Amino acid sequence: MAVGGRIRDDAIRAIRERASLVEVASDVVALRRRGSSFVGLCPFHAEKTPSFNVSEDRGFFHCFGCGEHGDVFSFVMKVESLPFPDAVRRVAERFGLPVPEESDGARPRGEPLVAANTAAAAFFQAELAGSAGARARAYLGERGVDDETARRFGVGYAPGAGDALARHLRARGIPVEDAIVAGLLLRRDRPGPGSPVYDRFRDRLIFPIADPSGRVVAFGGRLLPGAAVNPENPPPKYLNSAESPVFRKGHMLYGLAQARDAIRKRERAIVVEGYMDVVALAQAGVAEAVAPLGTALTVDQLRVLRRFTDRVIACFDGDPAGRRAAARSFPVFVEAGLWGQGAFLPAGDDPDTYVRAHGAPAFDAVVAAAVPLVDAYVTELAGSRADAVARRADAAREVARVLKKVRNPFEHDVLAHLAAERLGVREELLGREGRPDDAPAATPESRARDGAMRTPADATEASLVALMAADPDAVAEVRRAGVVAAFQHPEWRRAAEALVAAGGAGDRTALVQSLPRELRDRLVARLLSDDGAERADRERALVDCIAAIQRRPAGDAKRRIREAIRAAEACGDEAAATAARREWLELTEKART
Ligand SMILES: [Zn+2]
Repeated sequence: MAVGGRIRDDAIRAIRERASLVEVASDVVALRRRGSSFVGLCPFHAEKTPSFNVSEDRGFFHCFGCGEHGDVFSFVMKVESLPFPDAVRRVAERFGLPVPEESDGARPRGEPLVAANTAAAAFFQAELAGSAGARARAYLGERGVDDETARRFGVGYAPGAGDALARHLRARGIPVEDAIVAGLLLRRDRPGPGSPVYDRFRDRLIFPIADPSGRVVAFGGRLLPGAAVNPENPPPKYLNSAESPVFRKGHMLYGLAQARDAIRKRERAIVVEGYMDVVALAQAGVAEAVAPLGTALTVDQLRVLRRFTDRVIACFDGDPAGRRAAARSFPVFVEAGLWGQGAFLPAGDDPDTYVRAHGAPAFDAVVAAAVPLVDAYVTELAGSRADAVARRADAAREVARVLKKVRNPFEHDVLAHLAAERLGVREELLGREGRPDDAPAATPESRARDGAMRTPADATEASLVALMAADPDAVAEVRRAGVVAAFQHPEWRRAAEALVAAGGAGDRTALVQSLPRELRDRLVARLLSDDGAERADRERALVDCIAAIQRRPAGDAKRRIREAIRAAEACGDEAAATAARREWLELTEKART
């Protein structure tokens, strides 16, 4: 993690201690209390039964399904795709905590861009309400968008003057450089008299694009009908902000900030094509709709949506082209860990025109009649001439390619079965060809290794590491007893050594993350179950574990200490080598007496 020394370490620790991970995680996961911790559906992999655990007291999350583990900062980094310092700032901001910075640190890139975008959004909204916005207001009226909805989505108007926004931002003290990086202003090719920059959006209806937490990161601008355009070189009907450090088009969805609560409440998300579709549906009371930003839906956009629901329904035109589009989208859904459904509107309608003409109940009926995308996909593959052998073979290969991306074994079988039935190929063939690349292959060796790990000695070492991870006093106790070098399991020994070396003050999250997957799960399970334990019980467990290790045959301990010395010397850890040599001496002393 490259902190770059900008935020002070003590500040990072203070923020981590005072932030509520449960509160932050609850933004994206519905959490239920279980004992002293919380559980919910993992936001990092697709699952039907909750294996995502949050321990508020210990400040970590852990998924027993996919192994993701971390603290409040790693959670924000993963969910919002932020670098570490920005995640720290975001958490601090949320809980109203100061972020003291090292004096030589530069400001992060993200916040000034959001500030520029926020100032621009306010400007566009004011312009829509003013005299220059009359044509834009008239257009919204024709499209049936009322004032309240326009305000809710922050709809605005960019005047045609060429540098109106540039002048406004300058007056508000926003650095020109920030506005350029944010994609709001463009530099003139030829310097000349007048302003060196001009507005990207001119004479357009403006739709602010926000990230899931509602910060404005970009804009979409629609050309107004009847605008004076050069017929030789007509401008695009829709124009988006350029990509910037805060705006990655393929990762964002229009309307998500407004829709997120409705998506959770109705346990579904509806994907439509255009900004106006989202706005019209919301005004009609269908608030759970979002749209990609002028391109086909991406895997990353679907992954963002999946944090809120695993029921995603995409709207398509009911004509043959729409059916083909639905079929093509299925592999994208699969790759995002979603099954996906397709809702088909009457040919020639889009959600905007349809909901305005027929109302929300009729639109809801269309959504209720949505079919699994896999049906559209397999039907399209089978084609009208399913008997053509060559085509069938191509289709089977295509299904096998998609099957490789289906991680859930149940869903894998469903797709294989459906495809086999429709394509007239053997299901076993599809199932075998399409086995996920990293499917767990239980080899005899791996089984033997797992078996070897589950010895009583291993259980003792696991308990001891968990006790140490939970309590710095236990670390001191274990160190005094000098039993770490006698650990038999190399990974548990490494973890115990790291805890002893840090004197109980180390970064527990980093320690857990450094463990192999299976050990990580077991350690966390112990930490979670230990939460309610009485201090006296813990102390007794500690004494028992230490005693159990001390009872081990001396020969074993000697071998371990020899190894420890060799390992410490090999990596140049003089302190650890000295400690291990001292242990060796103690052990040989003990053997003599
Ligand atoms: Zn997971």
